[in-house]
Amino acid sequence: VNHQNTTETPVTVAPQGIPAVAGAGLSVPLVTGGEIGYANLDHAASAPCLDAVRRAVDEFLPWYASVHRGAGFASQVSTRLYERTRDILRRFVDARATDTVVFTRNTTDSFNLLARSLPRHTSVVVFDTEHHAALLPWRGPNVRRIPAPRTRLAAVSAVDEALAECPQGPRLVVVTGASNVTGELLPVAEIAAVARRHGARIALDAAQLAPHRRISLRELDVDYVALSGHKLYAPFGAGALIGRADWLRAAQPYLAGGGATKLVTGEADELAVVWNDGPERHEAGSPNTVGVYALGVACEQLAAHWDAVGAHEEILLSRLRKGLAAIPGCAELRLFDAPVDRVGTVSFVVDGFEPGWLAAVLSAEYGIGVRDGAFCAHVATKRLIGVAGGAGRQAVRVSLGLGSTTEHVDRLVLALRQIVARGA
Ligand code: PLP
Repeated sequence: VNHQNTTETPVTVAPQGIPAVAGAGLSVPLVTGGEIGYANLDHAASAPCLDAVRRAVDEFLPWYASVHRGAGFASQVSTRLYERTRDILRRFVDARATDTVVFTRNTTDSFNLLARSLPRHTSVVVFDTEHHAALLPWRGPNVRRIPAPRTRLAAVSAVDEALAECPQGPRLVVVTGASNVTGELLPVAEIAAVARRHGARIALDAAQLAPHRRISLRELDVDYVALSGHKLYAPFGAGALIGRADWLRAAQPYLAGGGATKLVTGEADELAVVWNDGPERHEAGSPNTVGVYALGVACEQLAAHWDAVGAHEEILLSRLRKGLAAIPGCAELRLFDAPVDRVGTVSFVVDGFEPGWLAAVLSAEYGIGVRDGAFCAHVATKRLIGVAGGAGRQAVRVSLGLGSTTEHVDRLVLALRQIVARGA
């Protein structure tokens, strides 16, 4: 990487007081020869595992066993840690005492579970700019996918109007906390207040918000929250749906099988099944004990460091946006016209440069990992590119997190400057 023709010297400001991530010192090969420290600027896709999580998992690995199914010590340890994680998650999102915590594979799984658990004829209202995980699981004639307006106020009004047009019966609003395309925060508390006035429930997609901000279901007055462990600095495979228990308790089990049942009686064609009433109802099969444990440890770590996490991200985000704004032809995608509170995710297009090619060059020549594409939010990405004055359906996304440093941000900005200067 040629740092010579810049007037700014890249400085690494060591992140202060934030939990360390595993693999922070990893190097990657460059096509130009040699190696460079990997600049992972793709936290929004999956965040690297925390060191504390890695250590905890390492200690737990020799002990994992199936939960609720054995009297042996390993089974007791696993069951204790698994159930304790429900309490950790309840605290992590400041849930009500009566809320249930169902372990799932990820946010997508959580919303599919919720969709399968809705009472009959539930009306669902959702912005069309949502991530596909929040946009697609809802089925039936009462689903209203509404265009997302360009101001927060208009977004709240749009939900209000959509709910007013819903037929009588149960209603659910689904909204993301932070956009995975632009990092902007949605007015969740205001939308929740509107939902309440219409007697509707609200489900929060916290896949992108939870790794960056403390969430309080009570303060937001939100009914359900869905999140993914792999975006919260834990390994893949564990997530959760947390919220009101009644619809989940009344629904058919998400999966049928062992663990979801209280009692199976009869024989042959005369079988009778009594399903569990608690979260186990939707957790059939041997659960991901290690993943759930890891998720809990990660949540505890984040909850103990919110101030430092926020401060770290704020410094990097303003540096990143300032740097991008100075790159000729670079246009940032934004959901809202006016600046709003946001997490450290920025998508952009650069006039004359294909996003996939840019991302490939950033990786091969500069050791920088970013994402390109439409980010499983095809409607949002295409529309926002249009608003930014571009064409096409794909953009580049840079997402900051605990593994990011000022050197990573500076390297990215410099790399883009150099790539643009030499042309496509
Ligand atoms: N919602 C948002 C806002 C996301 O960014 C993502 C993943 O990128 C999801 C939902 C789906 O998460 P998962 O793939 O872990 O199910």
